[in-house]
Amino acid sequence: MSKGKLVVYTGYSGVGKGTIMKRLRELDDSVKLSISCTTRNPREGETDGVEYYFVTKSEFEGLIEKDGFLEYAQYCGNYYGTPEKAVDEMLDNGLNVFLEIEVQGGMQVMKKRPDCISIFIAPPSFEELERRLRERGTEDEETILKRLSAVEEERKYQQYYKYTVLNDEVDRAAKEILNIIHS
Ligand code: 5GP
Repeated sequence: MSKGKLVVYTGYSGVGKGTIMKRLRELDDSVKLSISCTTRNPREGETDGVEYYFVTKSEFEGLIEKDGFLEYAQYCGNYYGTPEKAVDEMLDNGLNVFLEIEVQGGMQVMKKRPDCISIFIAPPSFEELERRLRERGTEDEETILKRLSAVEEERKYQQYYKYTVLNDEVDRAAKEILNIIHS
């Protein structure tokens, strides 16, 4: 069996990465999402082991010491990281593994795994991005402002991604991504 592809999948908070991801998985069984570890608190409706492994700061730091992460970063005051072993097992099974991660982690993966595919999801406009982030209603005002100011920083890294996909329409964006990974 040939190995699957590793996909770095990045976009600003609120850009619609999760919605596109859901569509990708409906369209293509080979698409798998890596489950990250994080020290942030679960949002309402999130389950440990499904969206994330929710861990304490000291558990996370223990995993860093054991070299358990393919990449990790701090984002808006919390740690986020990709467990390496699970990713490699899925790739060995021929699955296409998506890492839904922010830019610092994305850069680490591009360096460590130069054969990865990197995709940056862009919003139709920044006004639209702010509207989506607020409409989602999952964060308080302070967190929303932190996430909006992170956008300026993240924007600088878009140039290092091999592909930019515009999220103008979920189904269209998902199909463009499938074309990229299967070409
Ligand atoms: P959220 O708190 O909204 O779930 O995620 C915040 C940001 O962290 C998003 O940009 C998300 O893609 C990113 N993220 C999630 N998991 C990881 C990870 O394992 N590593 C890195 N570097 N970023 C992650």
